[in-house]
Amino acid sequence: MATAIRVEMLPARLGDCLLVECLRPGRRPWRMLVDGGPPDTWPLLKARLDRLPASNPAIDVAVVTHIDSDHIGGMIPFLASDFARTHVGDVWFNGHRQASSPRAVPRSVAQGETLTATLSGAPGAQPGMPWNVAFAGAAIATPVDPGFAEVTIPGGPRITVLSPNGRRLAALAKVWTEALDKALHPEPDRPVPDLPGPLGDLATLAARKTSKDGTPPNGSSIALLVEHRGASVLLGADAFGPVLTDALTALAGARGIPAVAVDAFKLPHHGSEANVLADLVAAAPATHYLVSSNGDTFGHPDDPAIARVVTGAPPGATVWFNYRNARTERWADPALRTAHGYAVRYPSDPAAGVLVKLPVRAG
Ligand SMILES: [Zn+2]
Repeated sequence: MATAIRVEMLPARLGDCLLVECLRPGRRPWRMLVDGGPPDTWPLLKARLDRLPASNPAIDVAVVTHIDSDHIGGMIPFLASDFARTHVGDVWFNGHRQASSPRAVPRSVAQGETLTATLSGAPGAQPGMPWNVAFAGAAIATPVDPGFAEVTIPGGPRITVLSPNGRRLAALAKVWTEALDKALHPEPDRPVPDLPGPLGDLATLAARKTSKDGTPPNGSSIALLVEHRGASVLLGADAFGPVLTDALTALAGARGIPAVAVDAFKLPHHGSEANVLADLVAAAPATHYLVSSNGDTFGHPDDPAIARVVTGAPPGATVWFNYRNARTERWADPALRTAHGYAVRYPSDPAAGVLVKLPVRAG
């Protein structure tokens, strides 16, 4: 079966680093890099980029979903690299300017020059890069709340922005300086002792009352639906569950469908129980669920989150973990898989992460 979209989830420890390729007959793949993991992911990402075909290594869009160390850490050296200066078509990132005035369009090219400088803390040190060009330089956000924004990519996939909304961007703008400082100077990551208890009854686990994510950087996450040749992947970043759910519900309403079914869903916030809520699982039924975390510092993924997925997913869904460890291995239990009708996949090469191929369903 021909592949429409390839999604690679690199081993970025507690963070996200995803390479999405939309395959096009007779042309090079349209490529999107989503986040760069924490700083120590950069050598791994660089090695992966070095393996792109020398004749066509372009990254059409590089997305910095939000300012947290486990997402921008590897993006700072990436954006400063010669590769990025030569081969990146557009950087999608909501900087302080976009967060503060979402409708405004930068007045000059000089505005774009602050991207790397802002991230690296060295204003004016770098020449400019294409920045939010697909959005005419304005913020990447949903125009109404709840709502969504469709982006036209000539020759590329159909992309729909599902997060952030205006309120979440405004919330980030209020704490911008301290949030960026924290992202650039994070506390050291801590390995969490992997001594997880038994999972028990999944319905009980799924129904466990959990507090919702309220951190402004996560809430400002750029979450995208990428659709290409009938295949689709929902890239949840660290977005809030209710923000994504509301946007997906609005999109389903506009399309006249009961829910936005997708081939693959990169779960928000590394499978945190504060983000992966039952309503969200119902709003985007998927064939493949992607979980990006080795459990460092926050112990992701949380058991209630994965329980909500496997009890709420369509029958036969597959959960992909980019790390095989004591925490994620419990989900391979044959009795659980049989009882709830799901499959589990882990990396065959731990240094490479996982690769999910989504088949062509249309033109
Ligand atoms: Zn994160």
